[in-house]
Amino acid sequence: MTATATPEAAPAGAAPASVRPYEAYVYAYPHKTAYRRLPDRPALRDLWAGQPKDALSLYLHIPFCEVRCGFCNLFTRIGAPDGLTTAYLDALERQARTVREALAADGTQPRFAAAAFGGGTPTFLTARELERLCDIAEQAAGADLRAVPLSVEASPPTATADRLAVLAERGTTRLSLGVQSFVDREARSAVRPQRRADVEAALGRIRDAGIPVLNIDLIYGIDGQTEDTWRHSLEAALAWSPEELYLYPLYVRPLTGLGRRGADAPDPAWDEQRLRLYRHGRDLLLAAGYRQVSMRMFRRPDAPASAADDHACQTDGMVGLGCGARSYTSTLHYSFDYAVDMGEIRRIIDDYVGRPARDFERAEIGRHVDGDEARRRHLLQSLLQADGLAVSEYRARFGTAPQGDFPAELASFAARGWLAGDTTGERLRLSPEGLAHSDAVGPALFSPAVRAAMAAYDRK
Ligand code: SF4
Repeated sequence: MTATATPEAAPAGAAPASVRPYEAYVYAYPHKTAYRRLPDRPALRDLWAGQPKDALSLYLHIPFCEVRCGFCNLFTRIGAPDGLTTAYLDALERQARTVREALAADGTQPRFAAAAFGGGTPTFLTARELERLCDIAEQAAGADLRAVPLSVEASPPTATADRLAVLAERGTTRLSLGVQSFVDREARSAVRPQRRADVEAALGRIRDAGIPVLNIDLIYGIDGQTEDTWRHSLEAALAWSPEELYLYPLYVRPLTGLGRRGADAPDPAWDEQRLRLYRHGRDLLLAAGYRQVSMRMFRRPDAPASAADDHACQTDGMVGLGCGARSYTSTLHYSFDYAVDMGEIRRIIDDYVGRPARDFERAEIGRHVDGDEARRRHLLQSLLQADGLAVSEYRARFGTAPQGDFPAELASFAARGWLAGDTTGERLRLSPEGLAHSDAVGPALFSPAVRAAMAAYDRK
């Protein structure tokens, strides 16, 4: 929903070749650009046989938006011709039933501990369609939405009272609103034209709906953005006392609206602007009493627990439904085809809606994540959290210590002052500067094989 930039392949080597602070936002490892066609198209019933299934996450992907934000490289299309959302929900239901049957084939019923509707913009769907989406999650996929945290992404114009009423009634615990900037000129500059008055009205409707956790997404590094205008946006957001705030650095990536205007070439002045605005925002939120959860995420200390943080759970499986969603077993990550270009996205969505149920029985594109890759993923996704990595948990899972598995990487972070304390402790944690450089830390932990796959990916 927000500026989740595609990780780009960084130069090979264990440590970052430079200290460019904005190499890539690593929200999941490995990135989809490292996935490949799985020649054996393994059956889901075999992939999931014997897997732990008592605390799965369910993710339903809705690949539609009213506009395409200039920075966006997510899997989404602008608008939907007549009938497409219905056809998409039909396909989603077929997939949900097929996947549920496959997961239960070994005799253990899947149990979901969290659910999320993402996109795209799930609230692009009408209120009636959102009812149906919840029915699919409950009746076809088997999640008890009122019993688990349910996170939903929305945009200001689509956060209407009727949609929010459905979402609140069906158990939504967290509503994430992509605001990006409260300054109209900056919103236009990031190619997300909107008026502040409309954003404020949407925030009012969300609060009126009584959804327990409101998250506001903001972006820094927009052309013309200054510390003053950034503070203006932060204070406007804080006026709503959101339970969560995500501060995203702007990225410009190939094939996105902004990317067409210029390549993401090294730009030290822009890096410096983003770092400066990051520190400014971080300090302002900390002074306002927020707790930093990761480089991007800040939470009010009294916020109720929600499904949302950018800590992809290290061990629990994920069932993703919809054509842009990924799924994780303990050893394989898989999804459908991936694209950023609008024509390609439309083709993939059209292919998805035309699939009969049996076409959802197998994994087609993915990457095995075991051995060294599972260790990397655990280290990377833990280290990027402010709480860091508990060495005892890592040892319990893998039988080894991260210091022994990744000595060069950790030494390099320590040498740059990116680790709090030394590398010998029972908790590995980034220092404030390390957190500020999270988008360099993450890519530095990519394996050579994943880097090579990402570099060889044919962008479309
Ligand atoms: S609203 Fe749509 S286009 Fe904009 S960032 Fe979110 S997913 Fe991308």
